[in-house]
Amino acid sequence: MKNLIDQIKRLETISQALEPDEINRNIYLDQVKDFGNEFINSLESEKCFHQASPTPNIFKITSKKKKLGEIIDIYDKEIGKKGINAASGAHLGYIPGGGIFTASLGDLMADISNEYAGMNFASPGGVGMENELIDWMKGIFNYPNEAVGNLTSGGSIANLIALTSARDAHQIKGDKIIKSVIYLSDQTHHCIHKALRIIGLEDVVMRTISLDSFSRMNSSELKNQIESDRSLGLHPFMIIASAGTTDTGAIDPLEEIGKIAAAHDLWYHIDAAYGGFFILSDLKKERFKGIERSDSLVVDPHKGLFLPYGIGAVLVKHKQAVFRSHHQTAHYMQDALLEDSPINPADVSPELTKHFRGMRMWLPLQLHGITPFIACLEEKIYLTGYIRALLSEAGFQIGPEPDLSVSYFWYEPLHIDRDLFNKKLLEFIHKDGSAFFSSTQLNGKFVIRIAILSFRTKLKTIDRAVEMIKECLDKAKIHFGISSPQA
Ligand SMILES: *Cc1c(COP(=O)(O)O)cnc(C)c1O
Repeated sequence: MKNLIDQIKRLETISQALEPDEINRNIYLDQVKDFGNEFINSLESEKCFHQASPTPNIFKITSKKKKLGEIIDIYDKEIGKKGINAASGAHLGYIPGGGIFTASLGDLMADISNEYAGMNFASPGGVGMENELIDWMKGIFNYPNEAVGNLTSGGSIANLIALTSARDAHQIKGDKIIKSVIYLSDQTHHCIHKALRIIGLEDVVMRTISLDSFSRMNSSELKNQIESDRSLGLHPFMIIASAGTTDTGAIDPLEEIGKIAAAHDLWYHIDAAYGGFFILSDLKKERFKGIERSDSLVVDPHKGLFLPYGIGAVLVKHKQAVFRSHHQTAHYMQDALLEDSPINPADVSPELTKHFRGMRMWLPLQLHGITPFIACLEEKIYLTGYIRALLSEAGFQIGPEPDLSVSYFWYEPLHIDRDLFNKKLLEFIHKDGSAFFSSTQLNGKFVIRIAILSFRTKLKTIDRAVEMIKECLDKAKIHFGISSPQA
């Protein structure tokens, strides 16, 4: 016994390092606070994109300890200053995320208290808060009270949960798989295709419905296709629409598609990961009409609510369908399973234990109120109009008037291959790095995308970015030997 106690005491001394005392906690917090302030203060002067890789072996775990200062330094140099700075307002590529500071306070509190918010039994408060956030979103999208939902790590997992529920609601399994039909468009986000493969639906029949000139799904073609599939003896099963596509920010005709889905008894899924929260603005509310007709819906608070990466959300109208795939019990869970308990997040998700994400969303909403979030969304809409006007003035071609805050442009050179020229132009833009843009392929044409969703993107960010693009245009012209300005 004495031996055992000595052993424990010896180990206790060593493991005590994992519980720093208050003095050290304050030292650590001060260092991280200083890092945070310097990081945010330097965002305006720092490049948004560094084409560089981390120093080899810099992240190696060895038995040698490092001081926190050293660790912060590595983070700053090797992570912060390599690749895209996702916190920068000059991030205008892909779909920018957020990163509002106050969300990090929620994360810190959730981490310090290590709240377990998977089951109501363990955390009636944490689960209550997450369920309130779900209810708040149900209200925004006019979903019924009985709908269930989950805070996920992002849009991909949120889509996975929704599509799994659709599969189980319609019992798509066995021989039924190859006769079932899913309707989508070539603008459907690639994470949907991943999710369908993960859940064993890669062999369903996929119908890619064509788009109109605004990249919105053609609903009359959708209707005809469903009818023709029915007459072929196939089983039309699900329509996947987008409310804010990645390429162009287009919103499919949600109301019309909803009516078609209802008339044919199809599951109606809407991926609104990027666009969903724009419904909060009166400027765009009308475009979302019909979103409430969907059976499941995905939004990404780490996009449209400007939160840091790591929070998506799914809403599903049919609790039974969700529970069929996600609710599972075990003997060791028996204490946690009370009749008439509130919805347990673990019953609406593949995850049992997860980060208590509710706090990073609830805290900022409570602290700031909803008004600044809506103002920020509207600011992004107007900034999109502003950059389009500036680029057009500067001689660029721009895509059609967008539904939301994603658009695109290209330069139309005389006598030189258009795609070649615009690829070169983007190369110069990437080399400059003061603002970041990405590209896509639309109707076989290489175009440069503009995606405005960072809460830090302001008028002057756009002014500077356009000046930079103009300089890069000159460089591209020189590169191709076009010296004089073109008509
Ligand atoms: C970003 C996005 C996704 C994927 O969401 P993640 O949060 O990146 O996993 C899905 N669909 C659309 C339309 C998106 O914009």
